[in-house]
Amino acid sequence: MSMSHWPPFNFSAGPALLPASVMEQAKEEFCDWHGSGLSVMDFSHRGLDFTSIAEQAEQTLRALLTISDDYHVLFCHGGASLQFSALAMNLLKRKAVYVNTGIWGKKASQEALKYGNVSTIDALQNEQDLSCILPEGSWAIEGDDFDYLHFTPNETIGGIEFDSVPTVGRGKLVADMSSCILSQPINIKDYGLIYAGAQKNIGPAGLAIVIVRKDWLRDDLPSYVPSLLDYRLLAENQSMYNTPPTFAWYLSGLVFNWIKEQGGVATMSDRATARSQALYQCIDNSALYRNPIHPRNRSRMNVPFILQDEALNSEFLKQAETHGLMYLKGHRSVGGMRASLYNAMPMAGVTALVDFMQWFEQTHG
Ligand code: PMP
Repeated sequence: MSMSHWPPFNFSAGPALLPASVMEQAKEEFCDWHGSGLSVMDFSHRGLDFTSIAEQAEQTLRALLTISDDYHVLFCHGGASLQFSALAMNLLKRKAVYVNTGIWGKKASQEALKYGNVSTIDALQNEQDLSCILPEGSWAIEGDDFDYLHFTPNETIGGIEFDSVPTVGRGKLVADMSSCILSQPINIKDYGLIYAGAQKNIGPAGLAIVIVRKDWLRDDLPSYVPSLLDYRLLAENQSMYNTPPTFAWYLSGLVFNWIKEQGGVATMSDRATARSQALYQCIDNSALYRNPIHPRNRSRMNVPFILQDEALNSEFLKQAETHGLMYLKGHRSVGGMRASLYNAMPMAGVTALVDFMQWFEQTHG
């Protein structure tokens, strides 16, 4: 069966589904890339075939997010977690501020603490039993002499998203966009550094993308910094200081092309709003399901929901799978369910989920 004839629909938080047409293209090109008789899997990363793939991917990403020449775009090994360390090693001189709204921000700040002076702000609060982000005016930040302000625009596990970019630290923002990159237009100048693990809105796991202001790079890094985490060295070597994750890079380029063909990040944003609204509406209209996040900060990418009767959890998941609705189990720290609705999720997937949830409530609620 062709992949465009889903179900099953994959609601995993990551690795997450990729656009069906991208998978088809990768399949077609797998053993014979553009008539070369070779596979991208076995090209030399130094050869012209791969360097053209690599450059093209970078250019398309730059065009999608309007990234100017003032910024490097790096294709790095490892996931986002390795960047928790790398960014602190590269950027933290005097002090960094971490505004944490969930588990990933907390992990990022714990990692940064190993390398310098970090002040953390716990910006999660409760309003009428709903989690939300503490308004910026209440963040206790002492002075503005920090190197950067780190935040996580979308916390994947909690399903909590900033409804606007912080104004404090503008120009000095560092953002973990692992689960929301390419889901909406951004103003790149607000940020000193943006990073994202690939396995949600970009491509296969094993790759992370770092967008960093050129004038933020240092040539006086502490000697303990591994060469592969030295942004300046990576930039000087076009992210090929050693062998890069070539296949992941290639496939990410196909995803960037797909986003461009669909109409760019503005289209991705409209679709994300439509998909998530449909699901939140189903949840809000139901007596069985509940989303624990204040509407202001509800994520458009990751929608957690709790069944009022927890005894129904395993039956819900079992029935969902028999209906082709996969990986809906919530993160172990939260419980309940979570539907991740990244760029590649077609509206048909959300419609199928909503139909199923309504049926399940009628028969079990
Ligand atoms: N940050 C965020 C916001 C994430 O969602 C994730 C992964 N789910 C990570 C960091 C960690 O990514 P990785 O597993 O690629 O290290």
